[in-house]
Amino acid sequence: MTGGETPDEEELYVGTSEGRKDGSMQPFETIDHEKFMREALREAEDALKRGDRPIGAVIVHDGRIVGRGSNRFATTRSHIAHAEMNALMACASYLYDHSHECVIYSTVEPCMMCLGAIIMANIRNIVFGMYDNHLRPRDFVEMSPYVRQRVHNYLGGVLEAECVAMYRRYSEDEADLVLAGR
Ligand SMILES: [Zn+2]
Repeated sequence: MTGGETPDEEELYVGTSEGRKDGSMQPFETIDHEKFMREALREAEDALKRGDRPIGAVIVHDGRIVGRGSNRFATTRSHIAHAEMNALMACASYLYDHSHECVIYSTVEPCMMCLGAIIMANIRNIVFGMYDNHLRPRDFVEMSPYVRQRVHNYLGGVLEAECVAMYRRYSEDEADLVLAGR
């Protein structure tokens, strides 16, 4: 499922005239999302090897990865060291100029904190693999007109089976919770 209707390319630049002038964003539908999700899975694998929950994220601009991050929850003893937060911080100054044309890929649907940070970083395109039916962050996208207006593409289920399998390598029980939502 997606959060709301799928915007066409025209709508992709709502309120982002710089992006339109620059014209550097490839139409969202034509991007090879699986290719970049594989890179996010690579980050997740690194997290798993470290002993962290295996969630990975990459940020892509114009066909190029500009930021990478993985979950560092356990190894940094920080509840906010999520993959998406780490990816955002890894390329924060780059995003300052280019965020409107960027896409963030995460192996798991971004939580409310990361969703908020992605929106405040002005990234308009969100792609993820595994749905989080426990937190259901997509409800926030649908509920809030502010958020809805700023999320132009919200695409889930990309390499979903691989992303779920990755999570299961960490904890079957937790994966079941995230999938079942209870
Ligand atoms: Zn998060």
